[in-house]
Amino acid sequence: QSLEEALRASIRTIPDYPRPGIQFRDITTLLGNARAFRRSVDELVHPYAGLKIEKVAGIEARGFILGGAMAHQLSSGFIPIRKKGKLPHETVRVAYSLEYGLDEIEMHRDAVNAGDKVILVDDLIATGGTAEAAVKLLRQMGAEIVAACFVIDLPDLGGRAKLEALGVEVNTLISYE
Ligand code: 5GP
Repeated sequence: QSLEEALRASIRTIPDYPRPGIQFRDITTLLGNARAFRRSVDELVHPYAGLKIEKVAGIEARGFILGGAMAHQLSSGFIPIRKKGKLPHETVRVAYSLEYGLDEIEMHRDAVNAGDKVILVDDLIATGGTAEAAVKLLRQMGAEIVAACFVIDLPDLGGRAKLEALGVEVNTLISYE
């Protein structure tokens, strides 16, 4: 079975979640499948092995699961990028727009050093608003973003193009129309 077939078979689609008309791509079934989880992480880190990546930055919450595994495999540190108000030390914060209203994400001010090579990761990119905010945070602290990685791309929503326009290399494993 190709990786793409294995991923499609292990990702579950929940119709009308969290709202009517949304097809939610649920990766908990992928994470629960030992082989699919390992193959996904292997494929996500493969281009970056040997590049001396200092940090993997994961976006709360599913980006933590993938990013922790990726950091281990790359022998990198891990940075949690969180919803506002959850980190205990001094933070940097960026606002981004959601379909309705604004939200904010933040990370610890001392989480990266200027010039650090960083890989950003989340489970899925849709409009790219969340990842764009994470890119801003990391660059604000002087990180060099080597790539942004996602298991799932929803290309119709334009997130990949948005990140590429910022000069960020985007690496995704499968896409859904
Ligand atoms: P964006 O900011 O690119 O519009 O939305 C991406 C964010 O929303 C990611 O943090 C992602 O985890 C979450 N998200 C949006 N839609 C889905 C979905 O269908 N499945 C999953 N697993 N996450 C989603």
